[in-house]
This record gives sequence, structure tokens and C-alpha cells, in this order.
Amino acid sequence: MRNIVQITDAIRRGNNSFSKKDIHRETGIPWGTMCKGVDALLKSNSIFARRAEPSGRGRPTIPLCINPDSAYFVGIDVGAGSAKAVVCDLAFKTAHSARISTPRYDGKDAFFSWLFAFYDDVLQKSGIDPSRLKGVGVSVSGNVDSDNGIVVSGGNLGIKWGANLPVVDRLSLHAGVPALALPTQSAAAWGEYHFGLHKGEARLVTVGLGVGIGSGVVANHHLLISQPGAPVGYIGHIHIPGNDYLCACGFKGCIEAYSGGRSLAKVAAEKIPRRPELHSAPALDRAAAGDPDAREILSNAASYISVGVVSVIQLYSPTAVVFYGGQSHKDGFLFNRVIRDVTEIIPPERLEGVSMDISILGERQSAMGAARLAYEEFF
Ligand SMILES: [Zn+2]
Repeated sequence: MRNIVQITDAIRRGNNSFSKKDIHRETGIPWGTMCKGVDALLKSNSIFARRAEPSGRGRPTIPLCINPDSAYFVGIDVGAGSAKAVVCDLAFKTAHSARISTPRYDGKDAFFSWLFAFYDDVLQKSGIDPSRLKGVGVSVSGNVDSDNGIVVSGGNLGIKWGANLPVVDRLSLHAGVPALALPTQSAAAWGEYHFGLHKGEARLVTVGLGVGIGSGVVANHHLLISQPGAPVGYIGHIHIPGNDYLCACGFKGCIEAYSGGRSLAKVAAEKIPRRPELHSAPALDRAAAGDPDAREILSNAASYISVGVVSVIQLYSPTAVVFYGGQSHKDGFLFNRVIRDVTEIIPPERLEGVSMDISILGERQSAMGAARLAYEEFF
């Protein structure tokens, strides 16, 4: 990570009490380089020095503070069902957040005018001084070429492979600040790693139970970012023997081809055609406790998902698995069944060091992760 970001992170962590000495100790950046960084931050008004009461003898230490209003970062997450946005200040407090529904993809022009309108609205309602905006991070539920800033496809959004939306070029041109793009699942993991219940844990996995069954991985403090056609740490397309449902990815038998939110609605319509009241994922979840039809479908879905969760635990040895998405409810049947199945499969001694929780960040998680990445790149 860049020195200036490391120094700013340390000052933020220090909660307005860190001196240069503390920053030096925390970051390990050589003293001279660190001092130059601090001077640059002071000069740009990104931080300020607090006048401390002299205590005892010797030179007083001068605590450094973040000036929250000096820089802003926007994070936008375009999910299959809805899009979320956050505007974060330099202290990474959310100055504004918003959510709208994502329209079904209907060509490049329509997509960009919708995205720009959302962006403009968010920025305007945040009330921030646009000249203090430093960058925008966008996460998209789909295949994103993050090196080139291109959305190659988004199966659950209706964006076909090869659509190649130049989201970074177009958005940075529109916004007048640099932009970056990455897949939603990676952004979610980064959001949890920096702001969630288990922030800072070296090995952390996020599992999204929504339209897709997504997952993201932080391995030894590094974010793994999937590239188009080369997903890493993504459980949704793990093949389940005996599952005959066709997936949006083109394969047959993927976990999300059965257990994803929209897939569940299709499965229910096929298996219990005479019960239209159960033809949606939330309806199944509400009914499952007392309804054998709903329970059968969701138990099966949970057994598939648990294969994915167990796999990701075996592959990356996380100390925390954080669940999020529309189907992750504390009292929900599906969620609890997944936890139960995972607990039954993995031996207790292996599971002992693994926390499984629902995200406290809610649906803003990926947008937060995207904003954080924009800060890391463009501050
Ligand atoms: Zn698939």
C-alpha cells in the first residue's frame, strides 16, 4: 500500500492521539519518508496538528488528527436487484448513502445514463464540495476486468458476455475524478476487512446469499480480485452432483443455479406449481418452518450452499465467515440451515477458530469496499 495511505490509516486508527513516533512505530515506514508524508498531509490540510497540553518534561508530543472534510470518496455497488452508493469522508464516516433498484440491462447507452443519473443524484444529495472528491470506486455483480476498468458481463443483471462496458473510462470522464472497478464480491470482502465486525482479520471470507451465491476472500490481509473468466474464491459455481439446473454461467449444476434467489423461485414454480404463494425466495424462507414443501426446497438449497461454505473454509482457513445478502437473516430458515449443515460437516476442532456471522454493514458493504479502494488508489 502507498506510504501516504498507510500514514493516513495510522492517524485514523490512532483516533486523533498519534504522534509521528506512533505513526513510525505503527507503519514501519522509515522516519524521514514518514515525516515527508506527514508534512505533505499537513500542507494539503488532510490532517492537522492538535495543540497538546505539555505533560512533564521533554518535548511535547503533537497528536495528529484527520480532517474529515478534506477529501471524499464515492463507492457505488451495482447489484442484480439494487444499486447502493456511499459517500465517505477521509475519516471514513458515511456522509451520504443511497439505494435504487437496478434496471434490467438494455444496452450500453441506457446503462450509462442510468448510472450517471444515480451518481449525480448521490453527489448532489451528499452536499459535499465536489472539488474535494478524490475518486470513485464501482463494484458490479459480474465479470469485471479491473485492470482495464471494463465490465465484461453480468449474468444476473442481464449483461451478456462480451458487452464490455468501459465503466471506468466513462465514469471518470463524467465525474471528473479517477475511477476504478471491481466485482461486487471482492468489494464486499474489502468492505468487511476494513469496516465490518471482523475488521483487520488476516483471513476473512464473505458469503453473499442473494440472487447469486457469491463469495470474496481476504487471504493474509490481501484482497483476492476475480478477473473475467478467472474467478477466485467464488463458491457460486461449484458443481453439485445431481443438480440438473442450468446456470447463468452456462454450466449445469452450479450451487447458485439452484440456491440463488431467482433460481429458488424457478425451482419452486417447477416443483410445487400449484402453490404460487411460495414462488419466491423470501416467501419460501418465511414458510419453511411450518411448510414441508418450502422446507424441502430450502433444505436442499442449504445443503448445496453448505458445500460451498465448507469448501471455502477448507481452502482459505478464514477466522471469520461473514454472510450478507437478501437471504441472510438471523432468524431465516435458509441461513440457519446452512450454519447447521456446515457445523455438522466440519469437525469441531477445525471450526473452533472460525466465527460465522451476518454482516453488520448491511447492503452498503460492497459500496464501502469500493470507496475504500478508491481511497487507496487515488488519495
Ligand atoms: Zn454457474
